[in-house]
Amino acid sequence: MQLSLYNTLNRKVEPFIPIEEGKALMYCCGPTVYNYAHIGNLRTYLFEDILRRTLEYNGYDVRHVMNITDVGHLSDDGDEGEDKMVKSAREKGKTITEIADMYTQAFFQDTDALNILRPTISCKATDHVTDMIALIERLEAKGHTYTAGGNVYFSIDTFPRYGELARLKVEDLQAGARIVVDPNKRNPMDFVLWFTQSKFANQAMVWPSPWGVGYPGWHIECSAMSIKYLGETFDLHCGGIDHIPVHHTNEIAQSEAATGKRWVNYWIHGEFLINETGKLSKSKGEFLTLSYLKERGYHPLDYRYFCLGGHYRSQLVFSWQALDSAKSARERLVKQVLALKGEAGSPSLTLSEGGRSYIETFIGHLNNDLNTPRALATIWTLLKDEELASDEKLALLYEADKILGLGLKDVKEEIVVIPEEVQALVDQRLEAKAAKEWAKADELRGIVEEMGYSLKDTSEGTIVTKICNQNSR
Ligand code: AMP
Ligand code: ZN
Repeated sequence: MQLSLYNTLNRKVEPFIPIEEGKALMYCCGPTVYNYAHIGNLRTYLFEDILRRTLEYNGYDVRHVMNITDVGHLSDDGDEGEDKMVKSAREKGKTITEIADMYTQAFFQDTDALNILRPTISCKATDHVTDMIALIERLEAKGHTYTAGGNVYFSIDTFPRYGELARLKVEDLQAGARIVVDPNKRNPMDFVLWFTQSKFANQAMVWPSPWGVGYPGWHIECSAMSIKYLGETFDLHCGGIDHIPVHHTNEIAQSEAATGKRWVNYWIHGEFLINETGKLSKSKGEFLTLSYLKERGYHPLDYRYFCLGGHYRSQLVFSWQALDSAKSARERLVKQVLALKGEAGSPSLTLSEGGRSYIETFIGHLNNDLNTPRALATIWTLLKDEELASDEKLALLYEADKILGLGLKDVKEEIVVIPEEVQALVDQRLEAKAAKEWAKADELRGIVEEMGYSLKDTSEGTIVTKICNQNSR
């Protein structure tokens, strides 16, 4: 079954044809580790995880590279503002290395909790400054750069395809460019490859270079590291939609100008998570992190389920109510898996024709530009199918979960310490049952279940369990 993906470069869904048969070379722009990731950032990494798992399901050997930005990302994606890392270190009274380590660790904790597979290679910008300098030298040798006011700039006028990805018209951009631009730029859209002049005294992170002591611009790291680990032309490059007009546009210009080749064949972009008032941002008041969701009683996989409910190319509106629906749907799914495990014991090793058709429909939706909402709907349909045996349903759920990543194989009922207030309700229910007050007993069961516990009456008494995933996060 052919995998097709929406390629931003051509603005259409296209069959995925890799450069080398059976392999998929994929680069994803990673986090700037100056703060925690917000749940919007995590949505982007989640869609990239679905893409990777779908590629793997289709038999591709995926080489997934992600950078960790720990230098050079200024507070504006253009060349304005201060380095985010330097600013964060100053504000928090820590060294830049401490900040980078702390937030890199926090980032991987979040992505692990969300069952996002770790990249094959994750690489830090500060470990690759030599590669960046070498790439800038290549650009310089080909006449794509100029030096002004101490900084090295990429000259977009030397690259006629500039703006192809974003379909930018350079004349319009020049006319509409902001008035406050760096006076050293020949064209307002030129961008810095290497800074030696910083507006900020005592710039903390600097390296020697042929142009003087300084630090790299943000965009060059992705070109240098992706070329190093994936080659001069590779298959897929992903990121959030915000990166199309500046970051990815500049990455293409510098990579293709240096190599003279097409750099990336498929550009895959995820739409934003927004809230009811608009854009989520790290600088605005409410800063929604995965830890905050956990504090409010959600399991990280509730958020994964919530994201699967929207197509990656549509905006997704976050609200607590919507997250509640995702949570209860995921818990229902977990309960169904537990029930099927109880009935069948283990998954069937073979599939009937009916069973196979469900998995084909499921993968068909994912192969059609990663349609996760439809794939999820297929799961709910198969669960309702009375013709399918429990062991087959279980086998199908496990198979689907290779892509959904909801940890369905790991779910188990855990006997946990029951809080006193829950135990009191359980006791009252037993009394109600003894008094044959069935309505009251049912009502009490309902209250206990709403509190996240389930009850099972056995010959040895009532067993109270809490439903959760094995890797409790
Ligand atoms: P940053 O750490 O700011 O470089 O962002 C990391 C990733 O998150 C990038 O791919 C961004 O495009 C993406 N991103 C930023 N904000 C959002 C959002 N609200 N929804 C989805 N993705 C986002
Ligand atoms: Zn990038």
